[in-house]
Amino acid sequence: MKKVLILGSTGSIGINTLNVIRNFPGEFEITALTVNTRIDLLEPQIYEFNPKAVVVKDEKLGQELKRRISGKCEVLVGHEGLIEAASKLDYDIFVGAMVGFSGLAPTLEAIKRGKIITLANKETLVVAGELVTRLCKENNAKLIPIDSEHSAIFQCMEGEKRNQVEKIILTASGGPFLNKSKSYFDNVSVKEALNHPNWKMGNKITIDSASMMNKGLEIIEAYWLFGIEKKKIDVVIHPQSIIHSMVQFIDGSIKAQMGLPDMKLPIQYALTYPERLPNDFSRIDLAQIGTLNFFSPDTEKFECLKLAYGALEAGGTAPCILNAANEVAVDKFLKGKIKFSQIPHLITNALEKIENHKSPDVKTIFECDKETREYVLALG
Ligand code: MG
Repeated sequence: MKKVLILGSTGSIGINTLNVIRNFPGEFEITALTVNTRIDLLEPQIYEFNPKAVVVKDEKLGQELKRRISGKCEVLVGHEGLIEAASKLDYDIFVGAMVGFSGLAPTLEAIKRGKIITLANKETLVVAGELVTRLCKENNAKLIPIDSEHSAIFQCMEGEKRNQVEKIILTASGGPFLNKSKSYFDNVSVKEALNHPNWKMGNKITIDSASMMNKGLEIIEAYWLFGIEKKKIDVVIHPQSIIHSMVQFIDGSIKAQMGLPDMKLPIQYALTYPERLPNDFSRIDLAQIGTLNFFSPDTEKFECLKLAYGALEAGGTAPCILNAANEVAVDKFLKGKIKFSQIPHLITNALEKIENHKSPDVKTIFECDKETREYVLALG
């Protein structure tokens, strides 16, 4: 039995990870589950999966949960609880399924212990790609992507030589505003932006998909995961989200990975790698789909994509600034404080004003993240 720790078990990826695990009784056991505040969702997970420990956001929630589950498992709290779970508990696979930057520190603890790191949380690689990939090498920790595009690339690379890759082609659905004009972005409602055509995901990533910042972050993620030159990472719009990404080799051949837009597939692959296990998830009916379309992305319309390419090029803490500014801007949009069209403006402003530090260590990354958040929070 493989022992699994899930960071963020009540989010979209966490719930899907448990759906996969439920499908393979006898293959996995849960060591720990961590959540932010949703103890109502965590409680039934505790009874079903019997973790040794859980982590919740703070002492108050911890006390409430302890009262409800009366000693069923250990309850840890806060940042210290996350660190303790990642650095002390007995597990084989670490699933990084939390939203945003908050999971970096526990992820680093798991890496230092040479665990299998399955990562859905792209922000970890965006802000600390250099550090994370170096520590993985030093500690012999295997990094397996869960993000569907990166899982696709990872699968296409299997059995291939890295030096025979000509380029990576990331596919993007284009989100709900693919066919809208840029001027439309001034009056987009939160509800419209949250209405993704193909994927059901959490709010933050759904807004990132609408602005195409999600694809921008994924370019940076791919750069660190696959150690490929920046100019060899392309993006193509593919509205059906059936091809999850492609790899083109030096002989001109392209391998593509296809599947229904369902996160259970990349999650299962990451958990069972290098094996494939049979499942009864829905299959693609290619004849029913009929047509697959591809377009070039419009970086004038989707400014966030351009900003991400720029941050990757600039290096240092620029991707950290990009990510932190985006997290705050998206939160402001979701709360109705700014227009959708202002998201890239706030990020541009932060990238211009906040100093870029080269080859940042953990401390510098945390400081940069904090400085950027405070700066963007204060912007009107
Ligand atoms: Mg993705």
